[in-house]
Amino acid sequence: MGKIRVGIIGGGISGTALGYHLSLYDNAEIVLFEKNAIGCGTTAKSAGTVCLFDDSLRNRYWDVRLYGFESYLKMEREEKGSAGFDKTGTLVIATSESVEKTIRTGIALTRAAGYEGAYITDKARIKEILPLIDVENILGAGYTQDDGYFDGTMISNTYARKMQKNGAAVRTMTQVVEIVVTGNKATGVKTSDGTSHAFDYVVDCTGPWSGFTGKMAGLDVPIWHTKAEAFFLSPPGKKLGYVFPVLKYPAFYALRAGDNVFICKSHLSMDLSNPMHAGQWDPDKLPSTGGTDDYFIEFLFEQMKASVPGLVESGLVSSWLSYRAEPKDFLPLLGKTSVEGYILATGYGGNGIIEAPAASRDLAKLIMTGESTPLLEDWAFERLLN
Ligand SMILES: Cc1cc2nc3c(=O)[nH]c(=O)nc-3n(C[C@H](O)[C@H](O)[C@H](O)COP(=O)(O)OP(=O)(O)OC[C@H]3O[C@@H](n4cnc5c(N)ncnc54)[C@H](O)[C@@H]3O)c2cc1C
Repeated sequence: MGKIRVGIIGGGISGTALGYHLSLYDNAEIVLFEKNAIGCGTTAKSAGTVCLFDDSLRNRYWDVRLYGFESYLKMEREEKGSAGFDKTGTLVIATSESVEKTIRTGIALTRAAGYEGAYITDKARIKEILPLIDVENILGAGYTQDDGYFDGTMISNTYARKMQKNGAAVRTMTQVVEIVVTGNKATGVKTSDGTSHAFDYVVDCTGPWSGFTGKMAGLDVPIWHTKAEAFFLSPPGKKLGYVFPVLKYPAFYALRAGDNVFICKSHLSMDLSNPMHAGQWDPDKLPSTGGTDDYFIEFLFEQMKASVPGLVESGLVSSWLSYRAEPKDFLPLLGKTSVEGYILATGYGGNGIIEAPAASRDLAKLIMTGESTPLLEDWAFERLLN
């Protein structure tokens, strides 16, 4: 069987997960280009939470969530630390009846898959799990004990190592400067080291950069940037002294980062028409730390005052700004485009760590066998053309 040549642009979670899944096929010939280092873009600034359930991805995509979680657990089992797992458990707060309903379904799915999960209405028990929160105005909380957060950069590097072991090439510090389009077909790329590469497929895995790379292929990739502003708090008393779980409210979430607490506005609460929340910017201009707006820290302190008063007296240790790549319906953009051979694996928004393994599994199948899947149909580029 002839080889299928695939060029991947971008070495974040999207590009490396896809490269790994493609490398499982004997007849794939893969080259991944990353203009900097593996896992150094949005992936490096991620919270990396992969909870058995929360409100960030609808229960309809349960398989996506479970496949992501179990892929990373397997990675950790093969080599401890290779996915950077911190098993803190997750506490999802029921602030209304509709949230409560989603939580109950999530807990049922968690248990059916063989993991620990409970919907708790005993407020003393909720306080025991997380002493800092106010339980007065909540209905209950979903608690899963087997999950937590991972390290996206570690995972990307592990995937990159695995794909190389399977025969793929990974070129870091190599920028794609041109996508070669002949007629209406992408036939290869040119890179910053002055070389040209011919491919059957070029896959754009550049996340927030896809507006720029899309233009190289003559395509307008409909991606907005939402500001992901993360703040690191040092809670009063310095040491947490207990396992701070991933904490999810509809408007924000928090998790531990050593003895500090990482806190961020949730991506689904971002409004694409509000210029404070979203726009189309240049990710190369992002500073490595800082660059955050007062708007977000004020918003988060307001939320904490109402929900987690025990964190309000915290000191602000550091912060960073990053851009999530979001299509207008907050779901990824996967698969074929109107330019033949130019494929997208972008728009993962606030869920890329959760979604990349299952999306890459299906996309690799499409590229290598021509077979689509229900997930690819749901997340196809064409849905946004209507
Ligand atoms: C603060 C924050 C918290 C988050 N929390 C979570 C979470 O809890 N759970 C979760 O699942 N997700 C979370 N996310 C979302 C997740 O991190 C992203 O969806 C994911 O990392 C996107 O990965 P990517 O590979 O698409 O993009 P990136 O990681 O940005 O990778 C794109 C890569 O392309 C490279 N590139 C760009 N242009 C070129 C070119 N021309 N040539 C070569 N290389 C190029 C860049 O250098 C970059 O490395 C969070 C994100 C942020 C910012």
